[in-house]
Amino acid sequence: MKKRNKSFVIFIPKKIILYFVLTISTIILIAIGFNSTKESSVNPNKTTTVINRLLEKETVEPIGKVAIIIDDFGNFGNGTKEMIAIDKPLTCAVIPFLPYSKHDAELAHQGGHEVIIHIPMEPHVGNPKWLGEKGITTNLSSESIMLIIKEAIEEVPYAVGANNHMGSKATEDKRIMEAIITILKENNMYIVDSKTSMNSVVKELAEMYEVDVFERAIFLDNEKNIPAIKKQLKHLGEIAIKNGTAIAIGHVGPEGGEITAIAIKEMIPVLEKMGIEIVPVSHLR
Ligand SMILES: [Zn+2]
Repeated sequence: MKKRNKSFVIFIPKKIILYFVLTISTIILIAIGFNSTKESSVNPNKTTTVINRLLEKETVEPIGKVAIIIDDFGNFGNGTKEMIAIDKPLTCAVIPFLPYSKHDAELAHQGGHEVIIHIPMEPHVGNPKWLGEKGITTNLSSESIMLIIKEAIEEVPYAVGANNHMGSKATEDKRIMEAIITILKENNMYIVDSKTSMNSVVKELAEMYEVDVFERAIFLDNEKNIPAIKKQLKHLGEIAIKNGTAIAIGHVGPEGGEITAIAIKEMIPVLEKMGIEIVPVSHLR
């Protein structure tokens, strides 16, 4: 009787323990379930925060810097408004002595862009009329050239540098470049070699005169269609990743204009994702 009673007493608690364990486990499982539901509703925010931090990091510490020079301002030509509306700093090269030279320089400055003088210079091949009034030709005296450059600086407000419009012949000529660079130095301006000649002496002379000098890496709109220009911009980014910096030249007017502006605008976020910062030429120093 005692034995039976004992085994009965032992049997009951086992069952109770089993129910108890099952109930507790169910409560724990439900609790975990609720918790994980809560966590999954928090996780997307955490992910967004991480992405935002990465994006901030990319913006603060880019891998490379590019400057985009837009040539041939001064005519209020095709794409001028679209180019000025781009919300990254471009470098706007304004041809002096044109009806809209001052107008375009002021527009560019107000739009937050850097302004430089786009000096018309004699090419080996081409119509001298393309140079317009007061173009730099190799038959001019050094004094005449210096005077023209001084006037050009007055003609183009806010200019902090210069580059060449055409000039495959003039940029090969040491005397011509010496006259131009002397005046740029007096005005603390930099020079960009558009590299229209493989035999240009611009870099050599600028370094001799201790004037900041930069060289164009690529042209954007030799082929005037949006996919081709976008491809050039991607290439520009790749050069900057390799070398740290790179300069491209595009155009307003018939050589590029609105099409070039659209391509640049659409490629800005892509370049930024590549780790590229778009800066004015003066920030490449
Ligand atoms: Zn030009």
